[in-house]
Amino acid sequence: MRYYFACLLVTVSLTVSSQTDNPAVEKLNNIMPVRGFCIAAPAPGGVEEFIKFIDEELGSRMVNTLILRVDYNYQYKSHPELRDSVALSRRDVKKLVDACSRNKIRIIPQVNLLGHQSWAGRVGNLLRNYPEFDETPQVKMPEKYVWPNPDGLYCKSYCPLHPGVHYVVFDIVDEICEVFEADAFHAGMDEVFYIGERQCPRCSGKDKAELFAGEVRTIRDHLADKGRQLWIWGDRLIDGKTTGIGEWEGSYNSTHRAADLIPKDVIICDWHYERPDQTPVYFAMKGLNVVTCPWRNPSSAVLQAQDMVRFREHSTREMRDHFMGMVQTVWSGTGQFLDSFYGRRTEENANTPVSCFKALYDEISRLLTDQ
Ligand SMILES: [Zn+2]
Repeated sequence: MRYYFACLLVTVSLTVSSQTDNPAVEKLNNIMPVRGFCIAAPAPGGVEEFIKFIDEELGSRMVNTLILRVDYNYQYKSHPELRDSVALSRRDVKKLVDACSRNKIRIIPQVNLLGHQSWAGRVGNLLRNYPEFDETPQVKMPEKYVWPNPDGLYCKSYCPLHPGVHYVVFDIVDEICEVFEADAFHAGMDEVFYIGERQCPRCSGKDKAELFAGEVRTIRDHLADKGRQLWIWGDRLIDGKTTGIGEWEGSYNSTHRAADLIPKDVIICDWHYERPDQTPVYFAMKGLNVVTCPWRNPSSAVLQAQDMVRFREHSTREMRDHFMGMVQTVWSGTGQFLDSFYGRRTEENANTPVSCFKALYDEISRLLTDQ
């Protein structure tokens, strides 16, 4: 079967310019329309090797969607103050764009909006430069971060009702979409623990689900004006307590009712790393488009891929197209992932993003040959 798929790939790669006319690609698009990979954008020094990885590994596996977590790893012209000290140049980005273009891969850049504005004891670039956007200015960053802590500090959020925040973040969104020539943007929006806080003069007393949905809609509408699509992580839309899915993978702060309030054209990245939770069905039944995202558990990723194909096979026509596919996520740095992928780093555990990525795409090829 692997041999069959290898032959298929040769056939496909020879006719890459007419990929959409290729019956094998058409078949693959039919069982798994989105075949994704999500990773931090490489550091400038790692661009060449990452391009090799795109050409040799993503292209050959028929990956068609690359979510690149850029955040402030770009030399923004609109807001130079927000750049990381070492950041990708426009030329670096264009190399990535070219690599994806020749492999028929859609790039979706990500900048974390709303949540994830700090990590451990460190405030992120946005709130460091614009502390007035902080939803919880009264929460001081600890010398040594531990969880749990008395402030319930996981990551800081910006205040979605601050009158200045969108002027800044939408400059960033527009610039990153433009340089990546992107027709979609990933806003993150996961693990938002601080929202609608009592001490915030704007958000206090407001419904947290409405606040979350309002921010999704604001970002979605901004993107839609320029013909772009919004992607977000799905955890805030899942009731963490009732489902037992928990406080990170699901919401304990009542944001989950936003699932009924957000625009239906937002793409939900439904991440579950330990179990193949059946939550894609929940999203599809809400009329939302969903992709399933594994990380480092190969056996779970294989089941998730099988589920995705089965959901599409055994659903009504109305629901079928909402089950869009799979996105492998990598949460280590790009350099670390590639060290592991190319064998320069020894992993003690068999469950790694590399093994998960390989198992997921082997399974997708197997599912294709089974059709
Ligand atoms: Zn607020």
